[in-house]
Amino acid sequence: MKIFFPKESDKETRSALDLASAQRLIDLGIEVSFESGVTQKIDIADQDLEDIGCKNKSRSEGLSNSEIISSVNHLPLSDLDSVSEKTLTISFLDVFNEKEFLEKLKQKKITSISMELIPRITRAQKMDALSSQANLAGYSAVMLASSEMNKAMPMMMTAAGTISPARVFVIGVGVAGLQAMATAKRLGARVEAFDTRPAVEEQVKSLGARFIKIDIGETEETDQGYAKELTEKQLELQREGMKKVCGYSDIVITTAQVFGKPAPRILSEDMISSMQPGSVIVDMAVTTGGNVEGSVLGETVEKNGVKIIGHENLPGYVPEHSTQVYASNIYNLIEEFWDQDAKKLELDESDEILKSCIVTKDGNYISEILRS
Ligand code: NAD
Repeated sequence: MKIFFPKESDKETRSALDLASAQRLIDLGIEVSFESGVTQKIDIADQDLEDIGCKNKSRSEGLSNSEIISSVNHLPLSDLDSVSEKTLTISFLDVFNEKEFLEKLKQKKITSISMELIPRITRAQKMDALSSQANLAGYSAVMLASSEMNKAMPMMMTAAGTISPARVFVIGVGVAGLQAMATAKRLGARVEAFDTRPAVEEQVKSLGARFIKIDIGETEETDQGYAKELTEKQLELQREGMKKVCGYSDIVITTAQVFGKPAPRILSEDMISSMQPGSVIVDMAVTTGGNVEGSVLGETVEKNGVKIIGHENLPGYVPEHSTQVYASNIYNLIEEFWDQDAKKLELDESDEILKSCIVTKDGNYISEILRS
């Protein structure tokens, strides 16, 4: 079997391949090929890949002549003309927003796996790219915020006086939020957090942070642990309850997401204007509509002296490590369904993982999420 790794777009720093995962794929008996420059931004040269036995191929040859094509972001639409029927593509697919792309995959009878749709079950944890990337995004959010802030993070007792620790407020304590809290704690900040899922309180406390309690009435979560949408009235209560905390925080990191839906609007203009000049907000939900009023995708904007960071692709700030874990997620997925005797992938659509993450196959939509 042949797997091809095309080069990502100019603005992507991550890759789906690194040396360790390439070696492990080769050890399974797979022919690994790549487009020149695919790992350039993580400082792995073409020659390094060739030295362990990978093949350097042109994009058109790799696309048209491989059984598997793997990348971080899905291919540009025009590339699909070069991909043969039954080829398997593995990447993030942004299935709720890329209807035209999905239609073309279906029409061309290309098999596609969306890494966002790997289910949150124990057996699939090693393939869970949403988690592996969200973890590093949470880390990057704190590093970015601390470099934009005009204060230091830890408490310092010096002969010239005592510097108080920075105050960090994390809203949304999923994978990204937990890592943001842990990173801010390691840097010495005083950390507080809020989430609509009450079960999170224990996790917040175990990181040595304070959970902010706000009574917003009954909240629900899905069987995969995702939060369900709040009513407008509940969001209003939440904003009211958080206003004071935002007012004294130096950094506010918002990570609130509702799976498959636009992000809830959590920080209003009114709350931002109550914050101290020099403080920083990171809107980690900016790509799904944003938690923060006035945040701009891909930019840092300033309102009343408060910086609002809306950078997309936060894991891309640490591309070596985000590649390491993503490439490992891809390897683990392939290895899980690899038939060692037949030396090929066996994609049984009734498998609990595959029935969630296969998007198109043989001209049909497969994923339960798209059908529901
Ligand atoms: P996510 O990115 O979908 O959302 C981030 C957080 O925002 C969640 O904690 C959510 O509760 C919270 N949120 C939603 N609306 C909010 C609001 N109005 N105010 C404040 N917070 C709000 O979450 P995620 O990081 O992908 O994790 C989702 C769940 O899946 C979590 O329970 C996590 O522990 C679980 N999970 C399970 C596994 C596994 O078992 N394999 C792996 C990863 C995550």
